[in-house]
Amino acid sequence: MAELKGWKDIPIGGLITEPGSSKKFNTGGWRVMRPIYDRSKCIDCMMCWIVCPDMAIIQEDGIMKAIDYDYCKGCGICASVCPKNAIEMKPETEFQE
Ligand code: SF4
Ligand code: SF4
Repeated sequence: MAELKGWKDIPIGGLITEPGSSKKFNTGGWRVMRPIYDRSKCIDCMMCWIVCPDMAIIQEDGIMKAIDYDYCKGCGICASVCPKNAIEMKPETEFQE
């Protein structure tokens, strides 16, 4: 995980001085619940892709591919809208080594 800046290092007012800089921050590090995707149940309806607030659903040509854990914050919205229960939320502690 990237080293966090101190308050003296942050621009006054928390201004964003560089466009597109959010890509550098792996916000998935905040996650306490992890969405687990089951391809065998998925019908590629793309509901999860539409509602994900972090653009963490990876799709290609209308086919659901994966979840980008670098940016997924574990909100669970994708799991709640999936009509086939193809996404299950699990505690991050289950994945810690
Ligand atoms: S849990 Fe939230 S942030 Fe993560 S993929 Fe689902 S909708 Fe997106
Ligand atoms: S909402 Fe569920 S069924 Fe639809 S694309 Fe996402 S994982 Fe697949």
